[in-house]
Amino acid sequence: MTDTRLHARFPAASFISQTEFAEYCRLMQARLDTRYLHETSLTTHDDRVTQVGTCGPCLRRTVFTTDTTGWERQPDGRRVPEWSDAQACDCEDRLTGRLRALVHFAQSDASLRRWTRLLLFGPPGQADRCLSALAGETTRIERLAPGPTAADVRLPAGDEAFHLVVSSNYLHRVPPLRAALAEFRRVLAPGGSLIFLVPFRYRALRTLSRDGLPELGGRQPLEFREPVHDIGWDMLDWLREAGFRHAAAHSYWSNELGYLGAFNILLHASL
Ligand SMILES: [Zn+2]
Repeated sequence: MTDTRLHARFPAASFISQTEFAEYCRLMQARLDTRYLHETSLTTHDDRVTQVGTCGPCLRRTVFTTDTTGWERQPDGRRVPEWSDAQACDCEDRLTGRLRALVHFAQSDASLRRWTRLLLFGPPGQADRCLSALAGETTRIERLAPGPTAADVRLPAGDEAFHLVVSSNYLHRVPPLRAALAEFRRVLAPGGSLIFLVPFRYRALRTLSRDGLPELGGRQPLEFREPVHDIGWDMLDWLREAGFRHAAAHSYWSNELGYLGAFNILLHASL
């Protein structure tokens, strides 16, 4: 991957609340319908769909490949598009649309540069190599550490140690999520950013968290195998309450860049 310093604009609409999002949906209904029609026109009998486009992170001409075997079938045997984990690029890491969007957003909107001190939080993921290659120095922390008391958790890192924290598909499995957000705030330098991907329920105002998780030695578990939080729009309030100055949900879509699917959401908070 080359560091071209030239980025395609990240094709997203940004919202700081569900109210803004609802208003956007109302005003943009015709465009959203057109997207939906385009996507449903890609209903297929084939086991594999290929589309020509451009890779957002490296601005290279590419072929996106989607394995459709997991897609739901219509009565006539055609499969209905399910884009959430689709459109793998032919670049080195074969990133799907979601992960390319994560890298692309980090470049274009969160200053991922050669000097960036990057923290990757959560288990290793497919986008890590690409993110690290674009950053200055990368640190990985796989999970929170217990704090001095049972109620505390901490990130084993100093104050203001990083410019950017990225977490992909993990935070919804972290029971002490509010404490984790406060820790991200603590370890970010002024101007720093947190970007994360989680399953996002764009119709829900409130985040629903599972109660009654088994405690281990009087402590809440630091991670869980299954989702613990069904994340809704109030996550933006959680981020602001954790001390972030700005928090927004970015809904991205692009046919050319291989970001298909209704309401793909990426969350971003900055200081
Ligand atoms: Zn690429």
